[in-house]
Amino acid sequence: MKAIRLVAAQQIEVADVDEPEILLPTDALVKVTHSAICGADLMPFHGYVPGFDLATILGHEFIGTVVEVGSGVTSIGVGQRVVNTSMTSDGHCVHCRAGRFTQCESRSLFGFSSVYPRLDGGQAEYVRIPLADRTLWQVPDEVASEDAVFVADILPTGLAAVERGGVRIDDLVVVMGCGPVGLMAIMCAVGTARRVIGVDTVPARLATGPRPKWQTPAVELARMSSSRHPVRFRLLRPLYRWCARRGSSRWLALTSSQTSH
Ligand SMILES: [Zn+2]
Repeated sequence: MKAIRLVAAQQIEVADVDEPEILLPTDALVKVTHSAICGADLMPFHGYVPGFDLATILGHEFIGTVVEVGSGVTSIGVGQRVVNTSMTSDGHCVHCRAGRFTQCESRSLFGFSSVYPRLDGGQAEYVRIPLADRTLWQVPDEVASEDAVFVADILPTGLAAVERGGVRIDDLVVVMGCGPVGLMAIMCAVGTARRVIGVDTVPARLATGPRPKWQTPAVELARMSSSRHPVRFRLLRPLYRWCARRGSSRWLALTSSQTSH
C-alpha cells in the first residue's frame, strides 16, 4: 500500500509499504478515506523529535471504514465509518480512571515514535487500530467525513482549552494563536462568552480565519506584532497587559506546545 513517511528532516516520501495486520484481539483495521495534518506533525518534520523512527507512517487524524476487527472487539464492526481518537488509552490505568485519558500509562500517538511507542498513522491506505473499542468512534450518517475529521484532535483540543479555562457566561475571552486549534477554541467559546478576541501575529490567519457561518459581532480578531509581542510563554507579561486593557477575564494561550496531549 501507499503511505507517507519522513525520509529525513523536511523531506517527505510516498512509500510502498506492507499493509498492516491484526496483531492483538483488540485491534481493528481501517481503510482510510480522509486524513489531516496537525501542527504536531511539524515537530518530526523539522527534526525536532530526537530518536523519531523514520519508518513511522505519519498522521493522527483520520476517517475511514472498518475492514477487519479482532476477536476481542465488541463495539465496532466491519463496514462502519469511523473517526479515531488520535491517541490510544487503555481505560483502566490510574490516569484513565481519573479521566485523564491522554495521559494514559500505555498511550501511543498515531504517526509518532520515540516520545511514545511507535504507532503507524493514518496518512496511508490502511492503518492498524490498537484498543479499537476505545480508539474508534462511529460517525453518524448525517455528519460529513470532512467535518468529522476535526473530532480526531483539533476540535476536542480547542474545546478542552475552553473547558479547562473555566469560560463562563459574560466572560471576555482572549484566545492567543489563531491556528486551527485556536479557531476551534474561538468557536467553542462563542455562545458562552460575552466576547471573544482572537490574537495572532500572522496576518493571513486573521484574514482567512473566521468563516461566515460563525462570524459574529461577539468575535474580534486582532494582530499583534511578532517583534513587539512575541507569542511565547516566557514573554506573556506584555500580552497580559494588552489583554487586561481590553477587559479580558479569561485568556487561553493556544500554541503548538499546548494541546490536548
Ligand atoms: Zn490508561
